[in-house]
Amino acid sequence: MNDIAHNLAQVRDKISAAATRCGRAPEEVTLLAVSKTKPASDVAEAIAAGQRAFGENYVQEGVDKIRYFQEQGIEGIQWHFIGPLQSNKSRLVAEHFDWCHTVDRLRIASRLSEQRPATLPALNVLIQINISDEQSKSGIALSELDTLAQQVVELPGICLRGLMAIPAPEADYDRQFAVARQMAVAFEALKARYPGVDTLSLGMTDDMAAAIAAGSTMVRIGTAIFGARNYIKN
Ligand SMILES: *Cc1c(COP(=O)(O)O)cnc(C)c1O
Repeated sequence: MNDIAHNLAQVRDKISAAATRCGRAPEEVTLLAVSKTKPASDVAEAIAAGQRAFGENYVQEGVDKIRYFQEQGIEGIQWHFIGPLQSNKSRLVAEHFDWCHTVDRLRIASRLSEQRPATLPALNVLIQINISDEQSKSGIALSELDTLAQQVVELPGICLRGLMAIPAPEADYDRQFAVARQMAVAFEALKARYPGVDTLSLGMTDDMAAAIAAGSTMVRIGTAIFGARNYIKN
C-alpha cells in the first residue's frame, strides 16, 4: 500500500471512530480530500484508493486537475472549490466544479448562478461563515445568514446545500468543540427552513474529531492524507 492509500485508510478510521463515539453513523460524514498544491499523480493515487471527492483552493490549479482527469476518461469524481473566490474567477468555478464552499456575498452567488452552464446540474453551494470573527478571513457573520440564504435559494443556477467555516486554529479540544457547536446550531436552523440543506463543511486535519462530535457532515482533510504542503501559492 502506498502512503496516500495508507493515510486515507487511517483518516477513514478516525472519522468512523469519532462518529461512533458520539452515536453518529460514519456514513453521515463525507471525507473531502484537499489536494491543493499536490500533483495530479497524488490525486490519482487517492482515486485508486477509492476516494471520490476532492477540494481545491486555487481556481486555475483546480481546473487543470479537473481537465486532466476528464481527459483520462475518469468519471464520478466530485470537485469542490474551497478557496477564496474573486468575481473575475467565478466563471471558471461555475463551468468546472461541482461544489463551491465559499459563497459569502450575493454578487458572487449571482455570478455563479448566471455562469453555470445549462447543460450541468445546479452548482452546489455552501455559505461561508466567519465563525471566529477574524478580520482577515472571508465569510459572513451569523447575523447576516438569514438574509443571504433567502437570496441564494432564489437563484436558479445554484443549489444551497449548507454552511462552511474555517475556525481559527485552536489546540484545545473543548474550545474547538464549542466553536463547532455554534456552526452546528446555525446549520440545524437553516436545515429546518430549507429542505435542500444537508451539508455542514467543518473540520480539518487538526480539529476533525471535535467537528464531527459537534455535527459536521463533511470534513476537509489535506495534510493527514497527502502530507505537509511544501509550498505556498497566492
Ligand atoms: C487547506 C485547507 C484544508 C485542509 O487543511 P489540513 O489542515 O491540511 O487538513 C481544509 N479546508 C480549507 C478551506 C483549506 O484551505
